[in-house]
Amino acid sequence: MPVAAQRPASALLGQIQARWLKEPTRHFIDNQWVENATSQTFDVVNPATEEKLATCPNGGKAEIDRAVKAARKAFESGPYSRWSGRDRGNFLRRLADLIEKHAEELAVLECLNNGKPIGELRAVDLPLTVQTLHYYAGWADKIHGETIHPPGNFFVYTRREPMGVCGSITAWNFPLVLISWKFGPAIAAGNALVHKPPEQAPLSALRFAELVREAGLPEGVFNVVTGLGETAGEALTRHMDVDKVGFTGHYQTGQLVMKAAAESNLKRVSLELGGKSPNIVLDDADLEAAVQGTLTGIFFNQGEVCCAGSRLFLPKKLHDPFLDRLAGAAESRRVGDPLDPGTEQGAQISKEQFEKILGYIEKGKAEGAKVVAGGKRCGDRGYFVRPTVFDGVQDGMTIAREEIFGPVVSVLPYDTLEDVARRANATNYGLGAAVFTQDLSKAHKLAGMLKSGTVWINCYNAFDASVPFGGYKMSGFGRELGQHALELYTQTKAVWVNLGG
Ligand code: NDP
Repeated sequence: MPVAAQRPASALLGQIQARWLKEPTRHFIDNQWVENATSQTFDVVNPATEEKLATCPNGGKAEIDRAVKAARKAFESGPYSRWSGRDRGNFLRRLADLIEKHAEELAVLECLNNGKPIGELRAVDLPLTVQTLHYYAGWADKIHGETIHPPGNFFVYTRREPMGVCGSITAWNFPLVLISWKFGPAIAAGNALVHKPPEQAPLSALRFAELVREAGLPEGVFNVVTGLGETAGEALTRHMDVDKVGFTGHYQTGQLVMKAAAESNLKRVSLELGGKSPNIVLDDADLEAAVQGTLTGIFFNQGEVCCAGSRLFLPKKLHDPFLDRLAGAAESRRVGDPLDPGTEQGAQISKEQFEKILGYIEKGKAEGAKVVAGGKRCGDRGYFVRPTVFDGVQDGMTIAREEIFGPVVSVLPYDTLEDVARRANATNYGLGAAVFTQDLSKAHKLAGMLKSGTVWINCYNAFDASVPFGGYKMSGFGRELGQHALELYTQTKAVWVNLGG
């Protein structure tokens, strides 16, 4: 996808703002816009300007139930139930093409709603969404069972069948990308879906739904209900006719999702949760490359990344030169207007998240860590935070233990490989980790020692639709992306055939 370097055209910007502000949005159920049963709504705000962007219906049990019924009907007896894998693959390809066609519009909409820089949306979020849909389009007609020959006169074959009606509940940091991570494998495998987008950033899900309809997905297969987590989200996780929920969010919400599944129908659950990921620089690392990797690891997407490299382990020998470069680069990072193509860091998603991050910064100072870059808000309008680097951090400090989900990195000095591996693993999380070194043997040794679902060597935040992603420990379970994600959306049936005699 070619990446434009200009500001979005003002006509497009005006059209988008006018459309979403004009009247309250509705739910998308059965390929139609549907009113809420009550008049309850919530406002969606542009975090860069603090201005209202849209009003959405606050859906709850009634709307979730309506969407689940539509999905069940579509799955059991609608035209979709007769689609072959190839039909589903062709549909996913058409959708990917439509998203590519509307990429600029979607990028601007997401930029206004989420506050992330337009340049990143054009270069990362939109291409990754399109790539994910294409990737699963390729899988849709290749989901096969196996043949088994157990002792005796039997022949057994297995079928990989869809789960049925799946719920998806996602976080606000990559609204569109995260839909594609669930929608792609779910549809490739033949499921129907009810999606609950994050209340702070639900608009791209609604526009995605329109494109899904335009690409020809029959009614009821994909439904979007906007609402709050404790109402719409909870209703989805407790619904007796939902077979599986794919969840992305905070670990404590993940615990609620599991509890709800356990207390209702034991629906299958997959969880993509948070992290406190270690970024380990060895003393032979290429300094410039490691600094660049560190910047990407912690400041990409305003630090609102589940696998953000928020604990930077530096060998004592490299501490001073590395910190000088890192602090300098952090200070010179361009923070501001997300619609400016030169912006490197946009706004945090909400006032709540903004205050939470500033609260962690104050806590870091109070506990004795030293700010060497940033450490404060940026400007006086919008939820902007300066890229922040803390030195003198101890492992036990709050900023070194808790997920901040913002542009804040803690520098932790270490002595030996064993020492750093032990301390890197001394967390309940296990989502991402990185090692910067020119010594391949040390790199692979550490990769084996680190307890996390992803280890990047001499890079950070590299993603591809073909590579599985997910957590160890309290960072969740189940792998999204790659072939692995198909396991989350299929179940295996064994068929025994007595050959007689
Ligand atoms: P939350 O857990 O607060 O919310 C995630 C989603 O869950 C939202 O749609 C939310 O709705 C919904 N929700 C909230 N309460 C419930 C409930 N009781 N039952 C069902 N659903 C509910 O996370 P955030 O949105 O704050 O996202 C940040 C977290 O997500 C971080 O911990 C981050 O690390 C993690 N994350 C993990 C990723 C991964 O791939 N591992 C990727 C992205 C983020 P509502 O918006 O209305 O509150």
